[in-house]
Amino acid sequence: MYSIRIGKGKEKQLEKHHPWVFSGAVDKVIPSFTTADWANVYNSEGTFIAKGWYDEKSHIILHLLSWDPDEDTDESFVERLVKNAVFRRKDYFSSPDTTCFRLIHGEADFIPGVAADSYGREIRIIISSRFAEHFLPVIINTLTDLLSPSRIQVTTDPFYSSSEGLSDKVRYFINGKETNLSKDDLKNTLFLESGLWYEAAPGKGQKSGFYCDQRDNRNAIEKYVKDKDVLDVCSYTGGFTLHALRAGAKSVKAVDSSESALRHLLYQIHLNENKGTLPPASREKVEIEAYDCFEYVRGIEENKYDVIILDPPKLAQTKGKLENATRAYKDLNRVAMMKIKNGGIIATFSCSGAMTRENFLLTLSWAAADAGVEVQVLETLSQAPDHPQRLSFPESQYLKGFILRVIK
Ligand code: SAH
Repeated sequence: MYSIRIGKGKEKQLEKHHPWVFSGAVDKVIPSFTTADWANVYNSEGTFIAKGWYDEKSHIILHLLSWDPDEDTDESFVERLVKNAVFRRKDYFSSPDTTCFRLIHGEADFIPGVAADSYGREIRIIISSRFAEHFLPVIINTLTDLLSPSRIQVTTDPFYSSSEGLSDKVRYFINGKETNLSKDDLKNTLFLESGLWYEAAPGKGQKSGFYCDQRDNRNAIEKYVKDKDVLDVCSYTGGFTLHALRAGAKSVKAVDSSESALRHLLYQIHLNENKGTLPPASREKVEIEAYDCFEYVRGIEENKYDVIILDPPKLAQTKGKLENATRAYKDLNRVAMMKIKNGGIIATFSCSGAMTRENFLLTLSWAAADAGVEVQVLETLSQAPDHPQRLSFPESQYLKGFILRVIK
């Protein structure tokens, strides 16, 4: 097996099980090799740290996968990682009211660059690393053997496809074999979340088609919306809107820059009315508007809304973008705090991994001070537990949210 020596002073986080090694931390590769392969990784004194996957074409040149010197890093090792991730979700498979959940959450499940979601009997995988591309056949076969999915869809995270040299083609696998599917074969996938019905179009949509990391937070807002006027900002296909309707909101205004997401939101209200999971006249309570969220909140009437949900996209894609992103988060929240009714509720989120929970709270406190309001934090929210946060990999703690009461 190949050996890699880490430069002096660069080993600390790796010894604490952080899985990423960038090229600047690698001192020597023995013997030198240019193809991707497994390697034993040592510190500058020659002490074993971990076993990892070395690929100099990847923007993360070395992924550490096992800190056990006796681990057999072969294909069956990757198979075990996939099985363990799925077994950790065993309780989700028996849920009567939720069939959409995450099966593999990348590095937090010890599988670099692989996100896999279950949508009823279908599985959707998003890959963001060359490691994931290399081991895709093992991952597909293991998931197929374990779960017999109706099909597996594979897409690439657009943020990483060029830096990792990954194809952005949508691929489908049936019974473990790659299959060309025609448009007619590609029907929408129907699934349940917390007793509400949704549909995800194949190959399209954002993420793998739905943001199931917000599942528990959608339930959390239900207790604040009865008989209230609700504004759902960055609604996408209406996860929060459907919950607000179920919990008896007086009206819901849904705003998103994506017109197709908003049309799909209306379709999903009909779907739930037809299935009896939303009251019959729900559609009449809802207005949609395709608009930029920052501009939209500035234009809303003061004291119109009792509840405002702010779920913007990842504004800080990297740490370098954090300063601008912080300004944007502050602005969005400040304006919402100014416009909401006295005593109103804001459910506010940041899904930027680069923004820590502490920083987000600090940003909200600046927003409150500038808006001239007092704010009480009622609930602290996070990503659902099928998206676990691995302590040795802080990047896995990405979704932060707070339910706030604004006092004027
Ligand atoms: N709340 C949603 C998920 C939101 S994801 C749910 O529960 O499913 C973020 C959304 O913000 C996406 O739908 C995206 O289309 C939208 N978006 C991105 N930039 C935007 C902008 N500048 N203004 C309004 N919406 C935006």
